[in-house]
Amino acid sequence: MEKKNIDWGNLGFAYMETDKRFVSNFKGGAWDEGALISDANVTMSECACVLQYAQTCFEGLKAYTTEDGHIVTFRPDLNAERMEASAKRLEMPVFPKERFIDAVVQVVAANEAYVPPFGSGATLYLRPYMYGKNAVIGVKPADEFEFRVFCTPVGPYFKGGVKPLTIRVSDFDRAAPNGTGHIKAGLNYAMSLYAIMSAHREGFDENMYLDPKTRTKVEETGGANFLFVTKDNKVVTPKSGSILPSITRRSLVHVAKEYLGLEVEEREVFFDEVKDFAECGLCGTAAVISPVGKIVDHEIGRAHV
Ligand SMILES: *Cc1c(COP(=O)(O)O)cnc(C)c1O
Repeated sequence: MEKKNIDWGNLGFAYMETDKRFVSNFKGGAWDEGALISDANVTMSECACVLQYAQTCFEGLKAYTTEDGHIVTFRPDLNAERMEASAKRLEMPVFPKERFIDAVVQVVAANEAYVPPFGSGATLYLRPYMYGKNAVIGVKPADEFEFRVFCTPVGPYFKGGVKPLTIRVSDFDRAAPNGTGHIKAGLNYAMSLYAIMSAHREGFDENMYLDPKTRTKVEETGGANFLFVTKDNKVVTPKSGSILPSITRRSLVHVAKEYLGLEVEEREVFFDEVKDFAECGLCGTAAVISPVGKIVDHEIGRAHV
């Protein structure tokens, strides 16, 4: 397979249109069989539910070329399961797991020329998503939906490679205690845009969100979970009903326990403990594992890892 003429080593985390995407529509109570299509644009009503009331959820996963030249994706079954949970919480129909995995495989195969070669540092990022498509003006769910998977080759999410991140404790909240923080809803990101831009304007890479109710416990960043390591080599990761259950984090916890024989604690993590940890990192499909160098609490540097 002839690869596209792309400078793989210098890709950023950005969208590039690729050849094919998978689309299936839900209408009259059922999903159609779906197809790979070439059109990268979407046409819909100006009053589409997604445009008015943000009825949309998404997933993110990557395909990699292995050393022996195979292309693999990482645990797409878990993305399918998580999207099922997101869809249910947002009153959207579930796209069946087997079909979700099949769609991912079809999109990777149809865009093989865009899958970065082994060792390039780049990967093929896959974005499955679903949204309410028909016109809705009174507040209610759509009854027609589109499920789509597109892909784009990407480089690192954080510029500058593996460089410790500087993050700040955010004054804004990400997710309410009984809200939608545990699902991958577009709306969670809409309300984080101001927080991330103001963090960047003030020179920080990311926000650390605390639990909105007590503002004493660590939740996560806008798009990655936290992992900490204690001075006696225990792995600690925050547990909360409003954290998005990262597949990367769950996989790393498994590796830590089962392969490395490390003790792992999934529990509430108080911000006051953070200064006592030996290491801190962010993890997620986009973030990979990114080390945190510094955490700033309102300029006084209360915590410092
Ligand atoms: C997607 C996401 C993550 C990372 O999850 P992965 O499954 O590891 O990619 C973490 N936090 C938030 C808020 C997310 O949306």
